[in-house]
Amino acid sequence: MDYRELVRDNVKHVRARMAAAALRAGRDPAEIELVAVSKTFPASAILAALDCGLHDFGENRPEEGSPKIAEVIAENTQAKPVWHMIGHIQRRKARLVAADFDMVHSLDRLILAERLSRLCVESGRVIPVLLECNISGEAAKFGYPLWGWEHDATVLMAFFKEVEALLALPGLQVVGLMTVAPLAGDAGAESVRPVFSGLRMLREVLRTRYPDTMWQHLSMGMSDDFEIAIEEGATLVRIGRAIFGTRA
Ligand SMILES: *Cc1c(COP(=O)(O)O)cnc(C)c1O
Repeated sequence: MDYRELVRDNVKHVRARMAAAALRAGRDPAEIELVAVSKTFPASAILAALDCGLHDFGENRPEEGSPKIAEVIAENTQAKPVWHMIGHIQRRKARLVAADFDMVHSLDRLILAERLSRLCVESGRVIPVLLECNISGEAAKFGYPLWGWEHDATVLMAFFKEVEALLALPGLQVVGLMTVAPLAGDAGAESVRPVFSGLRMLREVLRTRYPDTMWQHLSMGMSDDFEIAIEEGATLVRIGRAIFGTRA
């Protein structure tokens, strides 16, 4: 099968599973956006996905994503893809993010936020951002340390302090939260559900405390766990392998 046909099939299948998960949870499937994670795949894969009706793409490294973005928009001048930065951002790469990306899912520290804000103000734009939260406590994860927030007020207070500083930055618009669940492995996909429900409950706390901010997005769910994430309230799912195939 031609690669484009494979992607088309995969997208159809993923969308059907997304819709079924939404309906199981009594949600409108239209309120969930599919972000196709194209990291490690070439620009040609993104062009194929654009042909299949996808428009939101996620990259995790600015130095890989930015040249690919340039390539894609040079090849397809009609399409208006939306570019999501979903990976850890080194401070010296903030300029690429501010220049090329439409949304950041992986904001995880104030020093980076300040730099990103300054760069966006300089170019006269405001970039929507999600705060990456480490809910599971896995050491290998990036994100604000929030495991155990339900019963540890000091964890929550430290996060509130950070949130207040972030909400004051003129070049950023905080629109929600993001998390990466641990690999379920033998424990089975269901084992990650508390991570997703934890992020949703944390959003309720933030909504109450900071009601002037919408907190509309929960970015959670990847190829192996997106259905559970949708059942728990995801508004953005980040899916790579289930669309583009196994990564090398
Ligand atoms: C790679 C990646 C994804 C997509 O993972 P798949 O398993 O390919 O669906 C989602 N989110 C982040 C942050 C990633 O780095």
